[in-house]
Amino acid sequence: MRLRHCAAALGLLSLVCVPAHADDARDIGRDTLAPYDGWAAAEGGTTGGAAADDAHVYTVTDRAGLVRALDGGSDTPKIIRIAGTVDANTDDSGRRLDCADYTTGGYDLKEYLAAYDPRTWGAAKPSGPQEEARRASAARQAERVVLPVGSHTTIVGLGDDAVLKGASLRIKDADNVIVRNLELRDAYDCFPVWQPNTGGLGDWKAAYDTLELDNATHVWIDHVTASDKGHPDEREPAYFARNHLRHDGLLDITGGSDLVTVSWSRFADHDKAMLIGNGDTVTGDRGKLRVTLHHNEFESVVQRAPRVRFGRVHLYNNRYVVPDDAHGYRYSIGVSTESRIYAENNAFTTPAHVEAADLVKSWNGTALHISGSLFNGYPVDLLAINNAYNSGSERDLTADVGWTPALHGPVDSAAAADRAVARGAGAGRIR
Ligand code: CA
Repeated sequence: MRLRHCAAALGLLSLVCVPAHADDARDIGRDTLAPYDGWAAAEGGTTGGAAADDAHVYTVTDRAGLVRALDGGSDTPKIIRIAGTVDANTDDSGRRLDCADYTTGGYDLKEYLAAYDPRTWGAAKPSGPQEEARRASAARQAERVVLPVGSHTTIVGLGDDAVLKGASLRIKDADNVIVRNLELRDAYDCFPVWQPNTGGLGDWKAAYDTLELDNATHVWIDHVTASDKGHPDEREPAYFARNHLRHDGLLDITGGSDLVTVSWSRFADHDKAMLIGNGDTVTGDRGKLRVTLHHNEFESVVQRAPRVRFGRVHLYNNRYVVPDDAHGYRYSIGVSTESRIYAENNAFTTPAHVEAADLVKSWNGTALHISGSLFNGYPVDLLAINNAYNSGSERDLTADVGWTPALHGPVDSAAAADRAVARGAGAGRIR
């Protein structure tokens, strides 16, 4: 740890603080969530794999090693340290796999597009040989890139440059998981499906979230960087007049997941960043989806930062950056069915064409607490603005969300948080 290194040097009356080397980095594998740090600290707290015996502490450098360590998502306490870059799109001998390697059954994008063109196929769900071949091909990719994470597991990056590429970490039906200090990059779907009935025009749907929480409890995500780095969707062509999306969410929290803290992480260069609750009719999520998001950066994100249904979400001290060249920015905070977002002291930086009224969007929402916001350096009341500018079909949101967050660290001003997050959020920045 750099600070300790420096202090020891001072103890010897040296005037020089020796820069730390990677192998001097503190072992973060056995860290546990602080007892007050957000919803994941409630009801027993979050320790991940801290109780692992030495036989279940792994350092992995490739997909095969990672898969062995994950042990099919077993519940054995385990600590997995990722060193360097691990690419999920590789075979068991480490050979890189591309989309052609997964393709089977005669799937061909040109033929797929010809078969399901809305002008000839209409609005029915795709079916027939090309859709069957797409599905079979997609299943081959999923078998490689979807990596199940079980209970009592900690996954950390080693040093400052650990990357997991092309993977979808699926924390499903699991309790007590920690993911820290890791860059998650480009969970690229080779075989997006056409959904004719989405959003009026139809839309492309990609399969993989870089991190997916489905019926997961006590999860701490910290100092993670998640992005589409390498394959931005904005560079994908449009088919059927819709962007051929290759990525789903960066971090989706669904299926009755609960007690989650996401801290000091970066979500960047992506369309739909974070969905909390995936359906208005998923009433099993009622009372769950309790999530704390603090000191995170959302940069070049089009929408869902986050979009919330049902959950009581504490959103404080986050930094939002919409770049000058942003294409198609839609909104940041989405207020949907029965959501209870308590937002405070978040900072938004946008180009001139994005207005304060664009930052919050409501569908079916009824309440939002939002205070201490900064918009391009100026204090702004986003609830009043939302209610003044909402479309005629939306009702006004009330400020009473029915709860007040109890578990959290010090809440800084939005200006101080903005600076601290710019310096400290993301992988490779635990000091
Ligand atoms: Ca998803």
